[in-house]
Amino acid sequence: MIITDVRTHVLSTPLDEPFAFSMGWVHRRSTMIVEVTTDEGVTGWGESLCHGLQPPEIARTVVQSALKPLLIGQDPAQVDVLWERMYNLTRPFGQKGAVPNAISAVDIALWDCLGRAAGQPVCKLLGGAYRTRVQPYATGFYRVQGRSYPEDAVAEARRHIGKGFRAMKLKTGFGVEEDIRYILGVREGIGDGPVLMIDANHAYSVGAARRILKAIEGAGIHWFEEPISPEDIDGYRELKSLTSIYLAAGENEFTKIGFREWIARRAVDILQPDLCSAGGFTECRKISALAQAWHTPIVPHVWASGIGLAASLQFIATLPPAPLAMHPIEPLLEYDQSSHPFRQDLIFGAIQMHDGMVEIPQTPGIGVEINREVIEKYSSA
Ligand code: CA
Repeated sequence: MIITDVRTHVLSTPLDEPFAFSMGWVHRRSTMIVEVTTDEGVTGWGESLCHGLQPPEIARTVVQSALKPLLIGQDPAQVDVLWERMYNLTRPFGQKGAVPNAISAVDIALWDCLGRAAGQPVCKLLGGAYRTRVQPYATGFYRVQGRSYPEDAVAEARRHIGKGFRAMKLKTGFGVEEDIRYILGVREGIGDGPVLMIDANHAYSVGAARRILKAIEGAGIHWFEEPISPEDIDGYRELKSLTSIYLAAGENEFTKIGFREWIARRAVDILQPDLCSAGGFTECRKISALAQAWHTPIVPHVWASGIGLAASLQFIATLPPAPLAMHPIEPLLEYDQSSHPFRQDLIFGAIQMHDGMVEIPQTPGIGVEINREVIEKYSSA
């Protein structure tokens, strides 16, 4: 099989109701999709993570200008070799951010090609599935103009519980006193039952995060995600020694080289690489192996359209429980419930929650078909 073309699709649409997280207001949902075609008629799809404030055009330019010339005429089964060549080519101007985002999308599309050609889901090509379904947690709780908090967050939590969610993650990072009042207020409003996580999107210094951790220690918070800057590994180590709340991070780290320090220095309790950002299947399975060697669980970050969601489910299937036991602590699926006009339509609504769990597709490749009408509807030049 030979790669004949690498196409990129930038999808973007304004939101009816903009929402805020600790870094700013999100007015659009955007993503960058990669479509790899081959001489055998097999097409593979991949997605590049597009953070709320990230222009998708950067990753598209990386694919078209740097990666595509390297890929045309190559065999997708050389996927590991191709990954290292893409990384080596872009090292002087890449390593972190939109360049590994772009490599991730290409790599996912190559694995999708291999799975579709072999008639197997990607998880089987990677060694098999530890699980065929996963418990999702609801990501949402973004701030919207005109709402009052924590009251509206308690109402949102009840909607998630009504859909079957047993775990959810609050957006924080809006000020130390405001966050403490908010977290305690939501916990009081929903009771002790639901699993609750918090995510500050690196809004704080170590000292400010410490004050929040001390104030919410008794509120049954499962993890505190990105309390501080992703560059401050020593800060994470300091915080981790002060609290019984798990510390989690990783959505702003990239490749096995980037994760090496986090893992070897035991900076967090839970690692959160994003398949569509940290390097795709090829690199994330290596990050997973490093994490396993240091006995650190992975709960991937997911903030994608249906393509990235489907691919992330394949990755989650391959994650060994840490440790493997009769009642292991299983990874969760981050299941974004915030406004996204094409998340589900892009894959014909193929991934849904039933009885509080999400099934991991066992059909070829990333396990979903792509709706080209949706791609055309939201494509921007
Ligand atoms: Ca996050």
